[in-house]
Amino acid sequence: MSEKREIVTIDGPSGVGKSTISRRVAAALGYTYLDTGAMYRAVAHSLQQLQIDLSDEQVVSSTLAALDLQLLPAAKEDGDVGVVVNGQDVSNAIRTSEMGMLASQVSAIPVVRKRLTEMQQAIGQAGKIVAEGRDTGTVVFPDACWKFFLEADPEERARRRKAQLRAAGQEVDAEELLAMIVKRDRDDQERTLAPLQKAEDAIVIDTTSIDIQEVCRKMLEFVQSKKTS
Ligand code: C5P
Repeated sequence: MSEKREIVTIDGPSGVGKSTISRRVAAALGYTYLDTGAMYRAVAHSLQQLQIDLSDEQVVSSTLAALDLQLLPAAKEDGDVGVVVNGQDVSNAIRTSEMGMLASQVSAIPVVRKRLTEMQQAIGQAGKIVAEGRDTGTVVFPDACWKFFLEADPEERARRRKAQLRAAGQEVDAEELLAMIVKRDRDDQERTLAPLQKAEDAIVIDTTSIDIQEVCRKMLEFVQSKKTS
């Protein structure tokens, strides 16, 4: 196997705390934070705006080829990364639960996965990144030095997601949100291409009853211990 690279991957289902944890671990290590979910959401948003037929792979492919997708540093501390597509700021528009569902649908399209995986690998070429998503430890960076897989009970994840959306000014029904989370997990796990699954060499952390600070502490401890050994 090729040599491991200075990359941290953090995968897991939605609402498990990946974004906040990834951002903080990246900041503590001085690494770049790569939010791969934001890229799938941005593509989903564009395809929706352009009213592209998702079953037409050729049109999806040519639309992707013309897409100028830029990830920007978060506007505020501990905030989501900014996303600009073809000059349009879509940072807020992509953060709805509907866009999460559409991103899940779009992420099963082979040309979309291929294009975004290539972009993510190009971003990670120089190493020193913390990548979060569903397949960063399995497909995008199989040679990452440190891999984590986060889990938490669906009810707790729905509760966290509701609080997160409320803070962003969006009110959602708790039951509906839980149903969406369960469906998105299932779709992400069952798709053929790059499904949501733990990499064989990933460390699993259940975040249901551990607070985020503690999760970050454990991860950083592990990264540092493997760095010096
Ligand atoms: O993490 P986030 O909720 O922003 O991801 C939105 C959707 O994008 C996920 O439900 C998943 O279907 C897709 N995704 C993916 N692979 C990644 C990151 C996200 O398929 N690496």
